Amino acid sequence: MKELKDRIRRDGVIKAGNVLKVDSFLNHQMDIGLFEQIGQEFKRRFADAKVNKILTIEASGIGIACVVAQSFHVPVVFAKKTQTKNIAGEVYTTQVESYTHGRIYDVIVAKEFLGKGDKVLLIDDFLANGKALEGLAKLVEDSGAELVGAGIVIEKGFQVGGQLLRSKGIRIESLAIVEQMDETTGTIVFKGDERDGE
Ligand code: 5GP
Repeated sequence: MKELKDRIRRDGVIKAGNVLKVDSFLNHQMDIGLFEQIGQEFKRRFADAKVNKILTIEASGIGIACVVAQSFHVPVVFAKKTQTKNIAGEVYTTQVESYTHGRIYDVIVAKEFLGKGDKVLLIDDFLANGKALEGLAKLVEDSGAELVGAGIVIEKGFQVGGQLLRSKGIRIESLAIVEQMDETTGTIVFKGDERDGE
């Protein structure tokens, strides 16, 4: 998606530890016009999938997922990070290791909001090592719902997540795949740059 790649090049900041900061339009301040374009692009790519629910993880996935859901006209469920014990029973639960915070969270989804008959599209802002998506995919599997795929805004193609999850047969559509980024020069190379004529 060219508009997104241009925006990342213009406003993205490369930080130490392979972190790309996109706080000015995606993760903190949110450009809703861009989110709408992102939503339409996911709708186009998953047009055949009969999605009836979108699942994301708090916090930074929620804003994007809500706007994407408007293109699909379906509800959004977000997996909650929790520290509450003894919650088994009414919820599906799994553990997710956070890339940016370097710690493990328990995440939950109430059983009443996910289950057999649902066709679920996962949405998240970033795909790095794949832990967040892996956790969401497990919640879908445990619930008996069908996972139709995952829509990712920015995939860091030099990290293992994309390959790992695609090899498990999960359909992943990423709107911008970063192949290389250089903290000192600020240069970002995307997959498909040549095709875009850049
Ligand atoms: P994963 O679980 O794939 O390793 O990491 C995905 C999650 O970590 C995303 O939900 C995102 O919030 C966060 N994340 C991973 N890499 C980056 C990054 O380079 N920049 C930002 N802003 N968030 C990231």
